[in-house]
Amino acid sequence: MTATSLTDRKNAAISRGVGMTTQIYADRAENAEIWDKEGNRYIDFAAGIAVVNTGHRHPRVIEAVKAQLDRFTHTCHQVVPYENYVELAERLNEIVPGNFAKKTIFVTTGAEAVENAVKIARAATGRQAVVAFGGAFHGRTFMGMALTGKVVPYKVGFGAMPADVFHVPFPVELQGTTAEQSIAALKKLFAADVDPNRVAAIIIEPVQGEGGFYPATTGFLKQIREICDQHGILLIADEVQTGFARTGKLFAMEHHGVVADLTTMAKGLGGGFPIAAVTGRAEIMDAPGPGGLGGTYAGNPLGVAAAHAVLDVIKDEDLCNRATSLGNRLKQRLESLCEKVPEIVDIRGPGFMNAVEFNDAETKLPSADFANRVRLKALEKGLILLTCGVHGNVIRFLAPLTVQDEVFAEALDILEASIIEARSA
Ligand code: PMP
Repeated sequence: MTATSLTDRKNAAISRGVGMTTQIYADRAENAEIWDKEGNRYIDFAAGIAVVNTGHRHPRVIEAVKAQLDRFTHTCHQVVPYENYVELAERLNEIVPGNFAKKTIFVTTGAEAVENAVKIARAATGRQAVVAFGGAFHGRTFMGMALTGKVVPYKVGFGAMPADVFHVPFPVELQGTTAEQSIAALKKLFAADVDPNRVAAIIIEPVQGEGGFYPATTGFLKQIREICDQHGILLIADEVQTGFARTGKLFAMEHHGVVADLTTMAKGLGGGFPIAAVTGRAEIMDAPGPGGLGGTYAGNPLGVAAAHAVLDVIKDEDLCNRATSLGNRLKQRLESLCEKVPEIVDIRGPGFMNAVEFNDAETKLPSADFANRVRLKALEKGLILLTCGVHGNVIRFLAPLTVQDEVFAEALDILEASIIEARSA
């Protein structure tokens, strides 16, 4: 079966609403490499969108899941609980930033983690409203979609969003919004649109993911924390994409010394198995009544077993430091191209949560076209890249933190050649 005929079958069988960035049908994968059904080999700088930070099929993750498969695969924790769920909650309560008593729930996807964080915040505060940021991405469920700060493609055609969701601009100086302007917009929102005493939570990604890999500064996060404290608003850190060593720390909020009341996690936690979590202040987490939280597959045993192994691997293989050193090498390589490539307007990101942003060399406007040309050139040469950003002009790098040095070096060569070739395309 060729990829072309599979694409035809896919188009006939699957809603076009499920977008696809490549037409590569995976056959097998190992660490940072994927082989397709036709035997072509690719270096994977997408990692299933920031999921396999520990690489495809890390032997310890596979071993842990196999051991769990041989014992039981599903009982539903709300019916017949299991110890490793409790133990994983204890581990997250220990490692999620915040020097206070914490509790955790498990769910299955990032969007579900966000939904539950909002439910918990509303139950704990008795308030309704939620504030999020322009360019944010928080998922494809109704609350996740409402909180997301981008209309096309995420909200268009899907009707009325849940009420009481407000947005203020995320500070991106490159796009003309400073931290002061964002704070001023938040204050204006409180003066013009919503009484801050009605706001249950402010939700923020410490580094915007889908929105363009823009990091929030320490100063900005501190101000947001102060505003939350001033009005009794809870702070939710959405660490779904930033979590688990990607930024050079286990959690991105650790870079700032700012502590959220609730933290959402997913993606990297399960190393390729679906599991997500909300961890937060114990008294807040206990606000919803019994039965108000959970789900049939929430905290599925295979995901829980995988997550324990992922946390062990991050520690034993020192992946936080590995993220920092890989990110430095990538950023240096990109910086060495700046003189030759005037389209490069920014290279950024903590640890290995890096991105390069392109503008058109003449118009100086964001160039999704250039970013796409780079992505397609790289794909032709066997490197899978993802774009992101409200203007689609950013390439984000999400390779596994376990990528071997020689594979990484090969990927950097392909990246450089693709950027240069994109100029003459
Ligand atoms: N929050 C953030 C910050 C994300 O990056 C994502 C996924 N890209 C989500 C929530 C939604 O996660 P999921 O796709 O697992 O529902």
